[in-house]
Amino acid sequence: PEYISVSNLAIALGQKIDIFLSQLEELGFEDVGKENILTGETAALVAQEYGFEPTVDTGEEEDLKARPAAADPSSLPLRPPVVTIMGHVDHGKTTLLDYLRKSSTVAQEHGGITQHIGAFSVSLSGGKQITFLDTPGHAAFLSMRQRGANVTDMVILVVAADDSVMPQTLEALKHARAAKVPIIVAINKVDRPEANVDRVKSDLATNGVEIEDYGGDVQVVCVSGKTGQGMADLEENILLLAEMLDIRAETDGMAEGWVLESTIKPLGRVATVLIKRGTLRPGDFIVAGRVHAKVRSLRNEAGVEIDEAPPGTAVEVLGWKEPPDAGDLVVQAPDESKAKAAVHYRQELHDRGEIISQMAQQEQDRQKRD
Ligand code: GDP
Ligand code: MG
Repeated sequence: PEYISVSNLAIALGQKIDIFLSQLEELGFEDVGKENILTGETAALVAQEYGFEPTVDTGEEEDLKARPAAADPSSLPLRPPVVTIMGHVDHGKTTLLDYLRKSSTVAQEHGGITQHIGAFSVSLSGGKQITFLDTPGHAAFLSMRQRGANVTDMVILVVAADDSVMPQTLEALKHARAAKVPIIVAINKVDRPEANVDRVKSDLATNGVEIEDYGGDVQVVCVSGKTGQGMADLEENILLLAEMLDIRAETDGMAEGWVLESTIKPLGRVATVLIKRGTLRPGDFIVAGRVHAKVRSLRNEAGVEIDEAPPGTAVEVLGWKEPPDAGDLVVQAPDESKAKAAVHYRQELHDRGEIISQMAQQEQDRQKRD
């Protein structure tokens, strides 16, 4: 038919009208009712969305997806915890990160020089590692959260001892709770004469943070990013929590991770990737969003080339055809043609979404005119 009503299309597609209407809304149709008339062209595109009469190859099997969770995670190797520092402005996040960065594994090996790649790793006694995310504004963190991904294993909530709980402290708490990520409280600036640790603790308790001193299980550590006081305790507490969380990942199989940052450097397009599973190596093919890369080289936070990036570490990846977006999932492909096929499929899906939105818009304009 040249034209079809929304309700008839729902029947044709075997969809319940209420659900169909909300799905149409998701496709970009605004204020669409069951009496609305669609052109055959628009209807065909909608039908395609439901898997009918595809005139383009959907190539579902050509996409790359994260592999399913391991059947028995407890048998996998431990990986370093990934930690994000959050808190109110001026409470000392940057100062704490700088202090930790100086104790970074590679910084120590390379004369204290690190470049900003959005994350760095610290080695502690017994060879245990912690990876700290250092992403300004936590943009990637938030975008990954929106996709339901927990890029971080825990949050360090920094509260200045001379300022106590402030709006962004509560904001950070909200994010951590939404992500169901455990927190450790770092009461910072305890070197200051105005420091009032008890007030911070009671303010936290008032805001529902179940801290140790009040019978809860949230650890509280008093630190100073300036003098270094308590910083070793903070690291110990992170390792303790990591042990309780029993953080494990496959070191073999296809690598998976998240794009933390994406920039252009003199060497070319560079993206920092936080590896969550598998091990990434030069020569591997990866896909992120609608772009792919043949990994030309991997570099750590000292800018030194490395042979492999295991789970729980962040690494600079060179070799992108186009810049990937921060927050995109990275999945390794078994070979170049699979990587290209996935990108092609995703591009088609994207374009089709655009076309449907455009046609929906034209349809609405037409119906308004009529
Ligand atoms: P951010 O906005 O959370 O990143 O906070 P900054 O790290 O930029 O710190 C804000 C100000 O507090 C700076 O002037 C720091 O020097 C100061 N500061 C941070 N940590 C401490 C601390 O432990 N003790 C003292 N006395 N000052 C600190
Ligand atoms: Mg800062």
